Amino acid sequence: MLIDIISVFPEYFDVFNLSLLGKAQDKGLLTFNVHNLRDWTHDVHHSVDDTPVGGGAGMVMKPEVWANCLDDLLDIPPLEDISDADPHIGENSHTTLVFPNPSAPTFTQADATELSYTDHLIFGCGRYEGYDGRIPAYYKAQGFDVREYSIGDYVLNGGEVAVSVMVEATTRLIDGFMGNRDSIVKESYTGSEGLLEHRQYTKPTSWRGMDVPEILLSGHHANIDRFRRDEELRRTSDIRPDIIEKLGCRMLDKKDRKL
Ligand code: SAM
Repeated sequence: MLIDIISVFPEYFDVFNLSLLGKAQDKGLLTFNVHNLRDWTHDVHHSVDDTPVGGGAGMVMKPEVWANCLDDLLDIPPLEDISDADPHIGENSHTTLVFPNPSAPTFTQADATELSYTDHLIFGCGRYEGYDGRIPAYYKAQGFDVREYSIGDYVLNGGEVAVSVMVEATTRLIDGFMGNRDSIVKESYTGSEGLLEHRQYTKPTSWRGMDVPEILLSGHHANIDRFRRDEELRRTSDIRPDIIEKLGCRMLDKKDRKL
């Protein structure tokens, strides 16, 4: 997978060379290119923002600079070389453009799973009051797959942290990324049910007067599975009743219904 990231603070992404993301690059599973948006400016101040049309506080990211950069990364020919008869340039593209935006739908595990099958992702990090609203609309109109996602109901200073979250959630699902694929199959928000995972314990089995649940020491796999599933259902129903509501009765087995 090729991942292009556009930001006015490209250094933010130096951390991608660490840990499993770094290893995935070494293994050739992933290539990251981080671009400084200011490289596509043509003025002496390298300005990427301007005042909001209609008034208001703060600054808005200019559409021309974003388009200079995105057209380059998407290999779009100069406008004067495109005729009206040409099909929309994005229609046969394998690229997905992702813009973080606090006022967009929330990014979920299902979105991460979908993005993990993509060949090429371009993430554009907003700053200030955000990017000009015509940018996602323009590339969508050109036939590109364009997504806007929020990572939660709060406002960050910029899209860099949001993009890091989405990149990490997505890339760990790529085949070969994790040493043991089981560790991503049985996780919170995953699979057809999307339940929250049961609590996990390790050794020592007794620590500061607290014991791990006895059943986990029994070696009886069916009972352990039942115990964990009950805990997942209880935790999900306490913390995220919305997930249980969506599940409906058909996903529950006979023993679940007794809970
Ligand atoms: N004026 C915007 C609003 O109220 O919705 C907030 C702009 S924010 C200060 C600047 C940039 O940070 C956004 O364009 C977006 O790229 C990113 N950002 C901030 N909070 C975010 C969130 N919760 N999820 C995703 N991106 C976020």
